[in-house]
Amino acid sequence: MKLDLEGRTVVVTGGTSGIGLASVRGFLAEGAFVAFCGRDGDRLDRVAADIAGEYGAERLLARRCDVTVAAEVEAFAAAVAAWRGGLDVLVNNAGQGRVSTFAATTDADWRAELDLKFFSQILPIRAFRSMLETSPVAAIVAVNSLLAYQPEPHMVCTSAARAGVQNLMKSLSVEFAPAIRVNTIVLGLIESGQWERRFAARPDPSVDRETWFADLARSKHIPAGRLGRAEEVARAIVFLASPAASYVTGAALEVSGGVSRFA
Ligand code: NDP
Repeated sequence: MKLDLEGRTVVVTGGTSGIGLASVRGFLAEGAFVAFCGRDGDRLDRVAADIAGEYGAERLLARRCDVTVAAEVEAFAAAVAAWRGGLDVLVNNAGQGRVSTFAATTDADWRAELDLKFFSQILPIRAFRSMLETSPVAAIVAVNSLLAYQPEPHMVCTSAARAGVQNLMKSLSVEFAPAIRVNTIVLGLIESGQWERRFAARPDPSVDRETWFADLARSKHIPAGRLGRAEEVARAIVFLASPAASYVTGAALEVSGGVSRFA
């Protein structure tokens, strides 16, 4: 199957780690031009230098940008417009989950989480939409979580916000049709930056990495018997974003090792 991404222009938010970085590499491997962002400028420069060595600097645009800050997202969009003149694919991936029960979640936490989950979608979509509309193969892929359908009490505000994002993307898939396809990736547990940070902060430092992740997979009853890898998610993102998925819109593609019970 040909994905037809050669020469296309792609934006990946949160492209400096985990799933975002694997997606940046995935699109580059398919011959696309890729712009990506993150907040940490040093990491952005390091990652950009690494990838430029593999794929050539001319196919890359790395830009410091916090996706919850409208002016920064607009500046990122202007930089992409100046670089390529248009856009074919927007992958909204930037973000992280918040671990807290209802009792432990303050109003400020609620606002911060709703802000991150919604505006990390809303602001890039608003800033890049007119560029996407000039593409004959325009697609948006939103990276989201199974928590949208299977909420966890210890991640109460993340779960609620995730459900809202699924709902929003479904609306946009109708409003933007047929010009822009809009799909979501619904994740289970994926080994990446946020799980590495939780591993680093484990209560018992004598537990090694392999044991910690194996115990985690067992405790979450993942039928596949392990967490997913960022590259496995990236392949799903690249497919959904590509012209090969031309009749897929308004869909949620689950990448969870079978852990979901909703479909
Ligand atoms: P990582 O922590 O490995 O990567 C997150 C990326 O997003 C980094 O590049 C980070 O860079 C960037 N980022 C975070 N916040 C912002 C922001 N406000 N503006 C711009 N960039 C930002 O996480 P994952 O790869 O695991 O996660 C990718 C997405 O998948 C996230 O939205 C996450 O919530 C979601 N997800 C992940 C799951 C998992 O099990 N891994 C499960 C469900 C959902 P920097 O910090 O420099 O800004």
